[in-house]
Amino acid sequence: MSFRSMRCRECGRGRVRSVAKSGRFQRYQGALLRVPAKLKIPTCDACGEEWVDGPTAEKLESALSTIYRKRAAQIIARAMKAVRHYARQKSMSLASIEALLGMSTGYLSRLRAERREPSAALVNELALIGKDPRRLRELEKVWEQ
Ligand SMILES: [Zn+2]
Repeated sequence: MSFRSMRCRECGRGRVRSVAKSGRFQRYQGALLRVPAKLKIPTCDACGEEWVDGPTAEKLESALSTIYRKRAAQIIARAMKAVRHYARQKSMSLASIEALLGMSTGYLSRLRAERREPSAALVNELALIGKDPRRLRELEKVWEQ
């Protein structure tokens, strides 16, 4: 299906054309990511509504997946550096930290080694803990009665 000069069904005024521009964002796995400026998306020239067709959806999925995995890996690497430093200071094992986070032993190591897509919730949690690893102590008390 071609969107070339299709009239926009949202506003009924504009024409839908393939547009590449910066400043677009998309949710991916719960994270708000910047869409690559070069990626063309059929867009209404009047109201700005995006009409994502099959081929565009595939390109978008592929691009956002790459961006997500790279960014998640950066965030996790930074957070883990801070967590490991804190763990050494407090003589905590990585396994005990994984237990605090509700993870199985070795999960954090595997997370870094494998090219998986960790959930945005997990990346967010690690990012916050990485900014202040003392929060690990707070986690010990969260489920206390
Ligand atoms: Zn429109």
